[in-house]
Amino acid sequence: MSGTSDGSRRVDLLGMSLDQLRQLCAGLGMPRFTATQVCDWLYKKRVGSIDAMTNLSLASRSRLAEVAFIGRGEPLSVASSSDGTRKYLFRTTAGHCVEAVFIPDGDRATLCLSSQAGCRMGCRFCMTGTMGFLCSLTAGEILNQLLSLPEYDLITNVVFMGMGEPMDNLDAVLAATAALTADWGLGWSPKRITVSTVGVLPALRRFVEESRCHLAVSLHNADPEGRAAMMPVERAWPLAEVLGLLRGYDWSGQRRLTFEYTMIDGVNDTPRHAARLASALRGLPCRVNLIRFHEGVRRDDYLPSSPQAIAAFQRSLEQHGVVCTLRASRGQDIEAACGLLAAKDNPAKHSINTQSQ
Ligand code: SF4
Repeated sequence: MSGTSDGSRRVDLLGMSLDQLRQLCAGLGMPRFTATQVCDWLYKKRVGSIDAMTNLSLASRSRLAEVAFIGRGEPLSVASSSDGTRKYLFRTTAGHCVEAVFIPDGDRATLCLSSQAGCRMGCRFCMTGTMGFLCSLTAGEILNQLLSLPEYDLITNVVFMGMGEPMDNLDAVLAATAALTADWGLGWSPKRITVSTVGVLPALRRFVEESRCHLAVSLHNADPEGRAAMMPVERAWPLAEVLGLLRGYDWSGQRRLTFEYTMIDGVNDTPRHAARLASALRGLPCRVNLIRFHEGVRRDDYLPSSPQAIAAFQRSLEQHGVVCTLRASRGQDIEAACGLLAAKDNPAKHSINTQSQ
């Protein structure tokens, strides 16, 4: 069972697959169709209690409530930006805080989800990285960030780009995306979902094979030494090997491959870096998202690139034939960059591990 306990040995129904629910219901002596009814209540009607599943008999609801619960929980707090971005804090069963950011943009609205509290990857430009690893979220805790969001009905897209490295919690991420895309779940197209990674190779291979969701790779520097200085993961899983893996799959169809590149003054934004990036991506159907470094992530040695440097970098990539967009900075006034808000609510850990898979 992927559902986890709430401390009373009961399992969370949220995030369980239809097959897992069938096993659970069969074990309780309930008819097979009960599992489909439960899915309907969880995902179509979005109820927060087993008691609200009124087409189950009272006896069935009572039996189910003895062994299971629905891991729904309202956000603890919200910070609203003048540009409409809202950052919510949710508490995990283990008591840690994670962030979910609602980003409206015209007729689209994206929800940026967290897959872990803290992160063990230690990327030096990321506030979450400075917290160390606190816990991995269950599939139910990931889904709750969407299902309990006040703006749920407005969400058109979900990106796994909040706190944590999704490939470091892949079982839960795959269970959550299964619930998002399956007929028994929310029935979304996988094209509405993007999962981001720094490139944890064995898990990435599994994700590419098993999921049809879009993929975003945090690249940030195509020079191996330069990348290793920014991202310890480069030492365990070099970018060259990640790109080698990705070149073995077809990205020319519906499934999108994006590379994220945070622009840091003098660190990764020079013409030499642009040429290196273009060379690394040559022939790979993909796009690059350039991201302004968030000044809220305070580091003495990292400052945002100047607008001129970003424009020159973008021009250089485009001249090399790389499709490239500059991502608008959203929620600057509410510390919407990954980890900034939760870092204040989670006790900091000081042992930042590098990738161990
Ligand atoms: S950028 Fe992502 S993988 Fe790196 S430390 Fe931050 S949350 Fe973790």
